[in-house]
Amino acid sequence: MIIETKFNLGQEVWGTSLHGSNQQVICPECLGKFEFKNPAGNTVQCFKCSYGTPGYIIEYVREQWHTHFLGRVGKIAPIRFKTQGEGRYDKDRVEYMCEITGVSSGTVWYEDNLFDSLEEADKETKYRNDHNVQA
Ligand SMILES: [Zn+2]
Repeated sequence: MIIETKFNLGQEVWGTSLHGSNQQVICPECLGKFEFKNPAGNTVQCFKCSYGTPGYIIEYVREQWHTHFLGRVGKIAPIRFKTQGEGRYDKDRVEYMCEITGVSSGTVWYEDNLFDSLEEADKETKYRNDHNVQA
């Protein structure tokens, strides 16, 4: 079997990956005011944002695709091809080991999450976020 790969060993690549993040957002209860008057006319502090920064809460933002520069492919381990799907993936996928700049360990990436250029990676990241594509 001849395996055609999209990237050459040592080539620089960008990747897109799915993850969520925590963000500080204006409290939806007091709209950032923290103190307000209750129906009885007394000034009270907002119960929802009384911990941390007054007027703000920490909210988990749903998983989104993010573009990353990954360094060069194939530095740590050879390209690997799976002939049988594993876990939740039921299609064949080519995997690459990618170095992370300045760190001696690498991460395994699927070929369909890797790109030749930042522009290509950003375009795909935007597409996946706009279309709510899952991993
Ligand atoms: Zn509040």
